[in-house]
Amino acid sequence: MTENAIEIEGLRKTYAATPRTEAKEALKGIDLNIPRGSIFGLLGPNGAGKSTIINILAGLVNKTDGRVNIWGFDQDKNPRQSRAAIGIMPQEPNLDPFFTPRGSLEVQAGLYGVPKSQRQTKEILELIGLTDKAEAYARSLSGGMRRRLLLGKALVHTPQILVLDEPTAGVDIELRNMLWANVRRLNEEQGMTIILTTHYLEEAQEMCDEIAIINHGQLITRDTTANLLGRLDSKTMVITPATETAIPDLPAGITATTRKDGTLAFTYKPRETSAEEVLAVVHNAGIRIADVKTEEADLEDVFLALTSNK
Ligand code: ADP
Ligand code: MG
Repeated sequence: MTENAIEIEGLRKTYAATPRTEAKEALKGIDLNIPRGSIFGLLGPNGAGKSTIINILAGLVNKTDGRVNIWGFDQDKNPRQSRAAIGIMPQEPNLDPFFTPRGSLEVQAGLYGVPKSQRQTKEILELIGLTDKAEAYARSLSGGMRRRLLLGKALVHTPQILVLDEPTAGVDIELRNMLWANVRRLNEEQGMTIILTTHYLEEAQEMCDEIAIINHGQLITRDTTANLLGRLDSKTMVITPATETAIPDLPAGITATTRKDGTLAFTYKPRETSAEEVLAVVHNAGIRIADVKTEEADLEDVFLALTSNK
């Protein structure tokens, strides 16, 4: 028995050309194992291929090539079991406007063949905070309530794996916090494996034990969040000198460039060098500071750093 919730091998997807669009190679051979019990992040910019992976796992998109194993079941040999092991909260809301939250959950449970006696509709409504909206039409629900209902629908068959595709894109902070609290609880209390996609580094950082970064349909890296952050450990302090100044002598651990606007950009690793040390270098060189700001590495830098290292 494998320890992995998901095993993906050589996964390829080419979307066929249409009269209006060219064929698109969305996945170019992805190998990825996701351990059971983890909160795993698929991180990448828009168009990277995240939803394509998710939709293949969900059985909504047919892969072009490769092998997908879900909870020990080969997707092609055991489609029913592999589908039963996974619940998906899709990126695009697909709610029927004429169903109530209770109705949606019941219909979804029916689709998954959950017998009436084993349904958890009441508990799920409670979990997603929609008990008092149980009988409201979906079209009368706010955007946030619809998102919560989507989460509920993903849970009706008590899957071992919960997949959330960009769950917090465009949602407010309150809903975001509520979603994360729920997801953490499902992970901690039920040991549910959680896979989420996001294009926010911060979100992946905050939530995930491990992160895979994908770009242009390829896996760029995969590591524990702690290791990844260590690799990305970089900060830039941008100093506007009071008068035009050359770059001073620098100790090991600090590099600098002069930018077009005359500012000096000092790059350092916050774990090894403090901001104070950088300021001291500037001060000791007799540079008077008109302005100072810091820049964190963002996702863009991460991609640049990781791809240029190869
Ligand atoms: P992400 O979720 O990371 O933003 P997607 O998996 O949605 O990325 O898309 C990956 C690439 O495949 C993009 O270039 C996108 O335009 C293309 N794509 C996605 N879905 C389809 C589709 N149904 N038909 C054709 N191309 C698609
Ligand atoms: Mg997507």
